[in-house]
Formats: sequence, C-alpha cells, structure tokens
Amino acid sequence: MDQQKEKKVKITVIVPCYNEEAALHYFYEEMQKVMGIMQDVEFELLFVNDGSGDRTLKVIKELAEKDACVSYISFSRNFGKEAAIFAGLEHSDGDLTAIMDADLQDPPSLLPEMYRAIVEEGYDSVATRRVNRKGEPKIRSFFARRFYRLMNRISKADIVDGARDFRLMNRAFVDALLKMGEYNRFSKGLFGWVGFETKWLEFKNVERVAGETKWSFWKLLLYSVDGIVAFSTMPLSLSAVFGILMCLASAIAIVFIIVRQILYGGSAFGWPSMVCIVIFLGGIQLFCIGILGSYLAKTYLEVKKRPIYICKETNKDNVQ
Ligand code: UDP
Ligand code: MG
Repeated sequence: MDQQKEKKVKITVIVPCYNEEAALHYFYEEMQKVMGIMQDVEFELLFVNDGSGDRTLKVIKELAEKDACVSYISFSRNFGKEAAIFAGLEHSDGDLTAIMDADLQDPPSLLPEMYRAIVEEGYDSVATRRVNRKGEPKIRSFFARRFYRLMNRISKADIVDGARDFRLMNRAFVDALLKMGEYNRFSKGLFGWVGFETKWLEFKNVERVAGETKWSFWKLLLYSVDGIVAFSTMPLSLSAVFGILMCLASAIAIVFIIVRQILYGGSAFGWPSMVCIVIFLGGIQLFCIGILGSYLAKTYLEVKKRPIYICKETNKDNVQ
C-alpha cells in the first residue's frame, strides 16, 4: 500500500512536431515551469518528429541527451499530424496521456487544472476549446464554423466548434482510441466517438510562438472533407435524394410537354432549355459519382492496411 502511495502518477505528453526547430525550446521551457508546479507527477515528453526537413530532430535529440524525461519517435517521412498522434498514443505508457502542439498554442499552464479534473473530479478525459479565433484569417474562421455546423448535423460524432487536439486522457480512453486502427484518422471525431466522461475547458486563442502554421487553406479544406467522409455517409444518401428529385422534375416536364403537344402541336421550340437540362443533369451525375468515388477511395486505402506511420528512429525501447 505504502509502495503504491509513493509511486507517482505518470503523464506522457505527446508532441507532434513538423518543422518546429524554432518553437521547441520555448515549448520545453514552458513545460519545465509546469513540471515544477506539478511536483507530484512524473512527466514524459514524447516528441514525434513527423519527417521534418529542418533541425527539429537534432533539437529533440539535444533535449533528450540532457533530460531523461524526453523521448522521441522519428518518422521516415511526413505522415501528417494524425499519424503522429497515433504513434504517440501507441507508445505512451503513462497513466495519463496528453496531446499538445509544439507551438504553445495549447497553453501548458492548463495542465494542472486538467490533471485535477481527472484525478479529483473523476473525468476520463479533459478536452479544450478556444473561444475565439483571434489572429486567424477571417475566411478560414468562416469556413471552419460552417464545417462544424455541417458536421454535427450529418454525423453522430460530437465535434465541438473550436475544439483543439489538446487533451488529457486516462488509460481507458487511450486504449479505446487505439482500438480504432483505421487508416483515415480524424481525431477530433474519434475523441467524441469513443464516449466517456469528458470535461471541456475553454481558453482564448494564443498565437503561435515561433515558426509558421503547416495548414494552408487548401489543406484544411481537404482535411474537412476527410472528416465528413470518415464520420458520415450522409453525402451518399444525398446523391440518392438528388436522383429522386431529378426524376420528379423530369416527370413534371414530361407531363408539361405532352399537354403542350396536344394543345399547340409539335415544334422545335425549346431546344436551348433542353441543352441546359442535359448539362445540368450531367453535372449532377458527375457530382454524385464523385461522392461515390471519394468513399471508394477511402475504402481502398483502408483495405490495403498500410501502416499509419513508419518509425525510422527512436530512443524508446518499447518500439518495435
Ligand atoms: N504537425 C505535424 N505534422 C504535420 C503538420 C503539423 O506533426 O504534417 C504538428 C505541428 O508541428 C504542430 C501541430 O501539428 O505541433 C499543429 O500544427 P500547426 O501549428 O501548423 O497547426 P495550426 O495550429 O495552425 O492549426
Ligand atoms: Mg499551431
């Protein structure tokens, strides 16, 4: 019993890093402060180098050399933040696991409060959302809001507007996430899908400490389509509804044409409108085939069962 009491709770902090050489030192310093406050907790900083092209890996190795609580996994190329999160979760052996960006946009100062919510209030996970989008391009915020609204309408996954990937989770939550070995990972959806008791903390948006964002508008748009395809089959049903509506419209048009033929006799009248209708229908058909194709493509990638990431180098010994 006494031995158990002495054993500190361990928190593994997963930090996905892609070209973050400029931000890493700031991150490490901030974490050092939080670690100083949370003396009763053992920390592990697990950096996941997602195929950075700059000195990120070197900086991480330097940190690992001087500090035993730093470990790293380095990918063979850039696999994306989702893959980095998954790798981190797979290799986290802490009692609790946190996910944090390297750019300090996820304030480490929230960690003590998050920790208390799990240990004292009994939550399974603590998530964070930013309440404003200060410093972000207006157009990006606009589309982000539309996306969250649409997503919540068409899928069962509860996705909160402004939700960050910044979270603290207990073992049961992490194990549930790991059970979902899908290739197309959309973590924001997976977090909601697994359920459990989650407490939400809010904070004001913080701008990146150094370096620049890896997300262009185009990348974000594609990511949002990934999210929709991963969590909703509504677009497929939508194409069926389109089809039915078109049939109805053409039935009405046929009746109209027959009545006109009877009343006024035949003529070549109306061919431009006919061309418009043909083009319109062609467009709708292609659109629906496109929807079908995007699901097929995802299924194709999924059945190949390719690894989500490839680890090239690590200092953790539980990595195969
Ligand atoms: N990131 C990553 N792989 C990528 C893109 C980003 O590991 O392909 C990491 C990045 O290093 C950072 C976090 O994901 O720690 C969030 O990225 P970023 O700050 O560029 O996104 P934003 O905060 O602008 O949404
Ligand atoms: Mg950021």
